[in-house]
Formats: sequence, structure tokens, C-alpha cells
Amino acid sequence: MRADHETDVVVIGAGQAGLSAAYFLRRAGLANESGFVVLDHGKRAGGAWQYRWPSLRLGRVHGLHDLPGLPLGAADSTRPAADVVSDYFARYEETFDLPVHRPVDVRSVTADGSGPDRRFLVDGGAETWSARGIINATGTWDRPFWPYYSGRETFTGRQLHTADYRGPGEFAGRHVVVVGGGTSAVQLLLEIAPLAAGTTWVTRTPPVFHEGEFTPEHGRRVVAEVDARVREGKPPRSVVSGTGLWLTPEVRRGLETGVLDRRPMFDRITPHGVRWADGAEQRADVILWATGFRAALDHLRPLRLREPGGGIRIAPQAAGTPRVGGLRVAAEPRLHLVGYGPSASTVGAARAGRSAVRELLATLG
Ligand SMILES: Cc1cc2nc3c(=O)[nH]c(=O)nc-3n(C[C@H](O)[C@H](O)[C@H](O)COP(=O)(O)OP(=O)(O)OC[C@H]3O[C@@H](n4cnc5c(N)ncnc54)[C@H](O)[C@@H]3O)c2cc1C
Repeated sequence: MRADHETDVVVIGAGQAGLSAAYFLRRAGLANESGFVVLDHGKRAGGAWQYRWPSLRLGRVHGLHDLPGLPLGAADSTRPAADVVSDYFARYEETFDLPVHRPVDVRSVTADGSGPDRRFLVDGGAETWSARGIINATGTWDRPFWPYYSGRETFTGRQLHTADYRGPGEFAGRHVVVVGGGTSAVQLLLEIAPLAAGTTWVTRTPPVFHEGEFTPEHGRRVVAEVDARVREGKPPRSVVSGTGLWLTPEVRRGLETGVLDRRPMFDRITPHGVRWADGAEQRADVILWATGFRAALDHLRPLRLREPGGGIRIAPQAAGTPRVGGLRVAAEPRLHLVGYGPSASTVGAARAGRSAVRELLATLG
């Protein structure tokens, strides 16, 4: 297997999960380039956060966990989260002299050989890397999920996904149907409603609002549920969506004013709006799909890891490893997924990097 570069470990993705893994590889004594590299297809530092809409201010995100070894520190909560995180990650890469190559779009990962001689070939387009181990940290932003509803292609208005949202200004005077039951849908409705001619919120199942504080016990329960799913080879549900909707003062106001009056999912999309099974119709200028994301793992397709249900089976957790342990792929023990399933949150991603490095280096000897 010929490659332009040889290294021990390739980390794919330089978001929270990938940078955390890179930090622990550095701490374990691996040298830049010959020991490990990080490949990322973004134009600048910041992982997926750099693409989040400018109106998402730092003060409105769920909570950003620090990367290991360098806290974010005091940051202006009125600044766009995208800028704060991009600056932070750039400072991080520089402080620890991490070998991040960008933009490198990893198109495929193949494997050859068996046992200790097995090597991966990472195809980054213009260049290729041969590696003994892979830490995959490609997140979900690159795979927005658009569910299909009949008539979608006949709609004459605009359709966009959360991933394309840039702010509420462009919806002034228009009627917007927001689809989805997660935090993004709620936040976007609350932003758009004051400017729009009207909004309609539709979700598949009735939203569940939680009173009180979000506790660590609640978080641990959600993480454990997602963890069990991926170890059975099922596709993960996102941790952030699993935590439900919290009754913040802003959400309460939205419920009182009717902005968060939820309607069941429509039956079909018409040229000028949406229609329910009982014949009721809503005219709309815009349909905003706040329907989430899926793990961006297409480049791993040549390894044939998918189970019939669409998930990737993760190896059972080793005794004594922490709750958010490494996610070692059962069929490919030198491939770890970080920021996937139970570690798909900033806190989980940061911790998974450490576990993955520990387990992978033990396997590589
Ligand atoms: C709108 C939104 C808000 C969120 N808010 C929060 C929050 O407040 N708190 C929280 O804990 N979590 C939040 N999350 C979840 C968040 O995604 C994770 O917490 C965390 O930031 C993900 O980090 P990551 O490193 O796994 O992925 P990412 O940040 O997505 O990083 C993945 C990196 O991989 C790169 N990449 C992808 N594919 C390839 C490829 N083929 N080749 C090369 N590079 C590639 C990308 O360019 C990117 O830099 C939010 C998610 C969304 C969508």
C-alpha cells in the first residue's frame, strides 16, 4: 500500500473531539507528522462551530466544555459562538503545536493486511497517508438530515436546513414553517417569530418540556442510553437532542405567546404551503428543516462497517474504563470514533479523545 506519507495515527477532523485526541497523542510523546497528523477539511480552525449562524451568541449555547490543558477562560457572551470557538481552537492548535493539515478533505479510508501489520490508507485528495491507527472525529455538521415528505419538490417557496440558517432578518414579513422538535427548532422559532408574518411549528411527536435544572444525573442517563445503542450496532441518537427541551424563561414566554404552539407533522407539501391529513392547510413562504444531523462517516464506507440497521457496532466497554470511554469499532480495533454517539457533546468529545488515545496506543503497542 503506497502513500505519500507514513505516520502512526491519523486523526480525521479538528473539532472538539479531534483536538482533544491530538492533545493526548502529543502528551503521549508522539512526534508531529511521523507520529500523528490531524486532517481537517474546514478553511479555518473551529470545527463545525465556525459554521453556526451569527445570531447564535455564546451566551445562548448549551454550554461549551473546555478542551484539555487550556481553558477557554472568560469570553464575551454577546459575541457569536462561531467566532469565540474559532479563536479558541486556533489558539489551542498553536499553543500545543498540533500538526493540523487543512483544508484536507478525506474521501476514503481503506485497509490492507492483518494483525499488527494492518495499515490504513487515508485518501485526502491531493495527498495520501498510511497509518497504523485512525481516530475519526468528523462530527455531524457535514450531513444535515432532510426527511422526505411527498410534494417537497413542488414547493415554490424556499426550503432550508438549520445548517444553512444565517439569522432571522431574511424572514421578515414571511410565513415560516419550522419542522423539528429539538433545541435548534425552538431557538430559531423564538428568533424568527418577532420579524416574520407568522410561524408554524410542526413536530412528529409532542415536545416534552422539562421543569427545573438540567442535572448531571439526567445527562449521565441520556449518555448511558446512547452508549447502549451504539454497542448494539444501532445508529446513535444525539446526546444533545436526548436531553429534551428545558423551560427557560424565554421558552416559557414562547409558550405563553403561542409562538411555541406545536402542531403535528403535516401530511404533504403543496406548491404554496403544507397540508395535514384532515385537509387543513397552511400557506408558507419558507420551510425551515430543523431536523438534525447524522454522523459524517461516508469516507469510512470502503471498510464496510455498517450493520443492517445502519449503525456501526462499537466494541464492549473494557472493565474499569470511564463512562464516556473510547468507542473502538468492533470490526476494526485500531479505528476509534470520537464525538460519536454518547460522546457527541462538547464534554463527551473532550473526554473521548483521552480514552481513545489510551486504548489505541495500548493496541498499537
Ligand atoms: C446547532 C448546534 C448547536 C450545538 N450546541 C452545543 C452546545 O451548546 N453544547 C454541546 O456540548 N454540544 C453542542 N452541539 C453538539 C456539537 O456538535 C458537539 O458538542 C461538538 O462540538 C462536536 O464536536 P466534534 O469534534 O465531534 O465535531 P465537529 O465540531 O463537527 O468537528 C468535526 C470536524 O471534522 C471535519 N471533517 C468532517 N468530515 C471530514 C472529512 N471527510 N475530511 C476532513 N475533515 C472532515 C470538519 O471540518 C470539522 O472541523 C451542538 C450541535 C449543533 C448542530
